[in-house]
Amino acid sequence: MSVPFLDLTKQYVELKEASDALWFDVMNHSAFIAGPRVSGFEREIEEYLGVKHCISCANGTDALFLILQGLGISKGDEVITTPWTFFATLECITHVGATPVMVDILPDSYNIDPAAVEAAVTSRTRAILPVHIFGQCADMDAIDDIAKKHDLMVIEDACQAMGASYKGKMAGALADAAAFSFFPTKNLGCGGDGGCITTDNDELAEHCRLTANHGMPIKYIHTAFGVNSRLDALQAGLLSLRLTKLDEWNAQRGDAAAYYDKEFSKIKGVTVPAVDSTGTHIYHLYILKTDQASELLEFLQSRGIGSALYYPHSLHEQVVFESLSGWVKPSLPVSEDCAGKTIAIPCFPGITKEQCEETADAVKEFFATKS
Ligand SMILES: *Cc1c(COP(=O)(O)O)cnc(C)c1O
Repeated sequence: MSVPFLDLTKQYVELKEASDALWFDVMNHSAFIAGPRVSGFEREIEEYLGVKHCISCANGTDALFLILQGLGISKGDEVITTPWTFFATLECITHVGATPVMVDILPDSYNIDPAAVEAAVTSRTRAILPVHIFGQCADMDAIDDIAKKHDLMVIEDACQAMGASYKGKMAGALADAAAFSFFPTKNLGCGGDGGCITTDNDELAEHCRLTANHGMPIKYIHTAFGVNSRLDALQAGLLSLRLTKLDEWNAQRGDAAAYYDKEFSKIKGVTVPAVDSTGTHIYHLYILKTDQASELLEFLQSRGIGSALYYPHSLHEQVVFESLSGWVKPSLPVSEDCAGKTIAIPCFPGITKEQCEETADAVKEFFATKS
């Protein structure tokens, strides 16, 4: 038997009838963009997260960009963030003309290190952009304290964290604004690209709603320079259906993770994810850290078990940053050490007990032959 890294068909099969009906209904009405499905989904997210505003857009990258632009972050400004993320987090900072300042991560959770954030604050710093990496919230209280002390804004990259919580509040409701992605592999994924912004800030919400649609409050009346970044009706309808299952699906990931934690607790040479018990980790990815990552990857592959490095590189080492004027590559020993050593193993909604067992047995067998 083989175990896929991720099996998205289970999410479709579980909601097949309603998803198929949705598809035919959208086709029959040919109402593809905007409309009640899109606004309905936005209201559902507001209720689910406990936020005042949800503004849907085309993807998570746009959500980050629209927030930064909406908050007036621009050339000369610095945004403190993490190198342990998907590239989009960094990219959007450069797209508004600001400078990304990457600081190190914590070795156990892979989330941004608040002490490193504090040390990186300068007179140019405008915002902190923590990423809730792998589905677990960053230490938002510590980040909030730093932000208050230095009068900075905080933006959550919550793209991997729909459904995660921190001290009783949901990811996406923990800062000035948050960005989510509905890329199919995310915990709440659609059938293509999608994203949204969440915030309690009325002014920012209005601005993002405007700029996500050509700065056009009324058809052919333009009051701002915006972009074309919209969620379509089909995706919104699918997301509404899947949102009803999200907590259940996240719990299934959690069950697989709990099983792995137990199975791997006694293996030498491998570190399981650290969990902050004040919140809910939704295991967008279940990560093992080991010095023998490439051998483990190869071994799992030979057994037909899907796995992948998250991440093979720390982003501050990417050559593209050398094109930024004044760029000085920081020394970030923790993330440098993690690069190429952190492996994600199968952990998805609907994963069976047999699949978890097969995966765990293969990992244990690998380390047994190594010691
Ligand atoms: C997926 C992801 C993004 C980008 O989202 P897209 O919808 O693919 O544009 C940004 N940040 C993080 C941490 C992500 O995982």
